[in-house]
Amino acid sequence: MGEHTPMPEDQAAELQTLLDRQRQAFAADPAPGLAVRRGRLDRLRRAVLDHREALTAALDEDFGGRSVEESTTVDLLPALTGIRHAQRHLRRWMRPRRRWPHPLMQPASAWVHDQPLGVVGIMVPWNYPVYLALSPLTGALAAGNRVLLKLSELTPATNAVLGSVIRQAFSAEEVAVVEGGESVSRAFAALPFDHLLFTGSTAVGRQVMAAAAAHLTPVTLELGGKSPAVVDGDADLDTAAGRIAYGKLLNAGQTCIAPDYVLCTPDRRDALVDALRRAATRLYPDPLHNPDYAAVITRQHRERLEALLTDAREQGAELVSMAEAVENAPESGRMPPWLVLDAPASARVLEEEIFGPVLPVVTVADLEQALAYIRARPRPLALYYFGHDRRRQQQVLDRSHSGGVCINDTVLHVAQDNLPFGGVGASGMGLYHGFEGFRTFSNEKAVLRKGRWNSARLVEPPYGRRIHRWVRRLMVR
Ligand code: NAD
Repeated sequence: MGEHTPMPEDQAAELQTLLDRQRQAFAADPAPGLAVRRGRLDRLRRAVLDHREALTAALDEDFGGRSVEESTTVDLLPALTGIRHAQRHLRRWMRPRRRWPHPLMQPASAWVHDQPLGVVGIMVPWNYPVYLALSPLTGALAAGNRVLLKLSELTPATNAVLGSVIRQAFSAEEVAVVEGGESVSRAFAALPFDHLLFTGSTAVGRQVMAAAAAHLTPVTLELGGKSPAVVDGDADLDTAAGRIAYGKLLNAGQTCIAPDYVLCTPDRRDALVDALRRAATRLYPDPLHNPDYAAVITRQHRERLEALLTDAREQGAELVSMAEAVENAPESGRMPPWLVLDAPASARVLEEEIFGPVLPVVTVADLEQALAYIRARPRPLALYYFGHDRRRQQQVLDRSHSGGVCINDTVLHVAQDNLPFGGVGASGMGLYHGFEGFRTFSNEKAVLRKGRWNSARLVEPPYGRRIHRWVRRLMVR
């Protein structure tokens, strides 16, 4: 985080003006129906498709190396399938959810009426700048809101294309894009939105929540953390290693749900290390010159990762290259993947979220100890368990907390559109994706409708003998 420089007042006023314009437009059309919402989602989908080549080229430019294939499969495709999912299910989501009225209320009907909240703010990080802008946008539009999107200062090329996507699809009263550094982000978080979704680090999430508290703006915080991968005794090591290596090295580890570290028993450690090295070499041979392997976004981010490695080595850990015989090459934007073995608990790689191609392997005596290790640390965004015994899988689910779990694979749960996505504890609060996204961005209004006849009069004064009979019956029901 850089020095905080206050934002010029005219810029702050500009943000407020954007918000006011959207708020007025919302007030003029506070209950957009199914056709309007589907139309907005359709315009968004078409605009993304029209710009798909420009988007993957811009992502490549911002990262200084990110393949068209990776950007398509992990940034564009999940954004597009999320929009399709919302389009298909919106009619059902928008239906009032009936509830059974209490006998004392009868005759009556009761239901939950989902209503758009108004103007939603969405703050986007740099690591998946398309998906993490469009996925929350999809939920907010499905729920009928207006949206201000704050894009990351580290992805200027992608922002320019996303700006064109949004302008092609929407008027500024529907969806508008905001760009800028930390001072703009701070001013954005301080706007009186009807809901604010922030994706980023836990440290900044705390500040965003504090800023939102001034207006009692509800927040959804999609934060980071150290997501463990547990490799149990009956897991096939090559399969587990292949799936861990894929999830870890996707986007060169710059993924909020990447497995951050691996837990296994000492007897399987060396075989797992060999399997991880084989898997990484199969996925990304010659990583420093491999166009399939993403670069680390900036020199500062690479230096932080190298400092983590230096710190681990100085504290007695063994560093093992996951690729065949490569050294760090500071002049390249790509960083070779590393395993870290025997790191002491005080090593930074075991304390901070890694967010790069560095994977510590930690040994524990058994599953019980693995779960105790996880429970002793802040609650992670994801947890990966490799093992086929259903009872042990259930034990993992019951005895650890994490935002999501993927059993016998990594990262894929995020792309399952009908599962909610979100963190718990330090990894965040609130849910989105699919129906949960629709609910997050809706006012779930409780409605009770009474008719002409009022049975509740039976418990109103003047009190007689009858009320005692009634209350007794209601109490023992
Ligand atoms: P970051 O938190 O460092 O920065 C995010 C943004 O916050 C920046 O654009 C910055 O301008 C802004 N900012 C800085 N100080 C602020 C303040 N006081 N108030 C408001 N805004 C402020 O995160 P990042 O480096 O962009 O992303 C990496 C982090 O995001 C990792 O921790 C990762 O795990 C997490 N992440 C989480 C998810 C998820 O879905 N849960 C997804 C992707 C990334």
